[in-house]
Amino acid sequence: MSAPDLQPGRGPAGDERGRELSARLATVRGRIAAATHAAGRSDAPTLIVVTKFHPAADVARLAALGVRDVGENRDQEARAKAAETEVLVEGLAGDDSTAAVRWHFIGQLQSNKAKYVVRYAAALHSVDRASLVDTLSAAMGREQDRRREAGLAARDLLDCLVQVDLAPRPAQDRPAGIGARGGATPDEVAALAERIAVADGLRLRGVMAVAPLGLDPAPAFARLAELSAALTSTYPDATWISAGMSQDLEQAVAAGATHLRVGTDVLGPRPPVG
Ligand SMILES: *Cc1c(COP(=O)(O)O)cnc(C)c1O
Repeated sequence: MSAPDLQPGRGPAGDERGRELSARLATVRGRIAAATHAAGRSDAPTLIVVTKFHPAADVARLAALGVRDVGENRDQEARAKAAETEVLVEGLAGDDSTAAVRWHFIGQLQSNKAKYVVRYAAALHSVDRASLVDTLSAAMGREQDRRREAGLAARDLLDCLVQVDLAPRPAQDRPAGIGARGGATPDEVAALAERIAVADGLRLRGVMAVAPLGLDPAPAFARLAELSAALTSTYPDATWISAGMSQDLEQAVAAGATHLRVGTDVLGPRPPVG
């Protein structure tokens, strides 16, 4: 890969917004390094910068600053942004003809969007039901056919994570203000994981969660780590633990997260929905 253009005043990150992103990114990277050190870990987690509501120009700036993983939670926005980013950062990825960034889909996915997501997403963090596994697998098959017919190279397997709902009690028993954040229940994880593992076109990677609103994230992330340990005893390669956002990345790193999904603290507040 050729080095991105990092000279001051030049390249996609050379403007004022680029300098702002560079400074925020350095702060977040510093927090991750400190948390990794404090946890006595030698393996640095992967930072996925969540770019939802921010323009493709920001993804291009981030790519120029060395970010390789970005996250989105709505297909329509992600699809357009992935296409636009490809044009903006043409040449940035260098001569190995890989895309400049890897797109991680992290939001709840409607089944009718699966056919689009398999065109641009390297990973899907939010598998929450068996029917979605089947739909994704079928969509991957059709996508590989489409590529073959168009004379394009086959795409990689779609990396899949089971999203787990870590809210401690069933919805009807939850105290006000303690919200579920989507996902399968902990006792559904094993069956969903197996369905992914045997599905054509998909690769089981691990588990994902969002800390329950209004609760200390540490016990929730500890529970996620337990579920991950149970999963890897059956599937040794399914080691990803996707957890931790701007507010709780330190607790996630302490609990063993391998992938952090950070939006606000890198990009600033999200613009109001238009
Ligand atoms: C938006 C989002 C994030 C990033 O949240 P920030 O608080 O902006 O860091 C992480 N994970 C998911 C699933 C999200 O939707």
